[in-house]
Formats: sequence, structure tokens, C-alpha cells
Amino acid sequence: MFKGLRKILTAFLAQNSSCPLKVTESFFNSVEVKEKAPSNEEIHDKTFIKVVYNQESYWCLFRCPCGCRRVISLSLQQNHKPHWKIIVSESGKPSLFPSVWQNQGCKSHFWIEDGEIRWCKNTGMEPWIAVK
Ligand SMILES: [Zn+2]
Repeated sequence: MFKGLRKILTAFLAQNSSCPLKVTESFFNSVEVKEKAPSNEEIHDKTFIKVVYNQESYWCLFRCPCGCRRVISLSLQQNHKPHWKIIVSESGKPSLFPSVWQNQGCKSHFWIEDGEIRWCKNTGMEPWIAVK
């Protein structure tokens, strides 16, 4: 049931973690847990969705925080490369590791830390150019 989602994986695993961090106000205030992946229309701005089925985490989905609203879907499955990890704080806000770097469209590069978006200085650059 999650097979088709693999094709729309647009994020790029960042190799350098030395990004200077610019913080915005809290963006994702909670994590919405769903049993199956929602359609793009069901994903609202500032909504962080985690797909969990049979107690296994499969995907997280949210709209790009830069304003382009592209749906970003990231694998949480450890046998996928790349895959991401979510840590939910006591207040229910998500942190995401590692960073997200879109290899299409806006090429946004950011971290999510305790619901806040931390923009990397090289956001907007092609990952394959910026990491040279
Ligand atoms: Zn964007």
C-alpha cells in the first residue's frame, strides 16, 4: 500500500550538518498520526503527518515550509535509503533527523527541531552543487 509513495520522494539526504541555523517561529505544533498515507489534498499547511501501521512507522508527510506548498514525503523505514527519524517532544512537537533538502522545485534545505524550521544557509541551492 505504500509502494507508490516511493516515487514521490523528493527530499534529499543532506551530507553536511554544519549549516548555520536561522530559526523561524514554531511551525509544526503537533504530530498527526494516521494509519494510511493521506492524499495531497488532505495535507494542510503546518500539519505534520506520521503514518503508522501495526505499530510501525512508515512515512512522514508535510507541506514544504518555504511557502511553495509542495508535499514532502519522507520514509521512516530503516531499510529505505535515505530514511528519517522523528522525535516527538513532551509538548508533542516533532524533531526530524537528518535535515531535508529538496532536490526539485524550491530546493529548500532545513531542519525541523521541536516544531521549528531551521533554515540552512545553502537552502535554494542544488544539493549536488552545494556539497562540493
Ligand atoms: Zn518549498
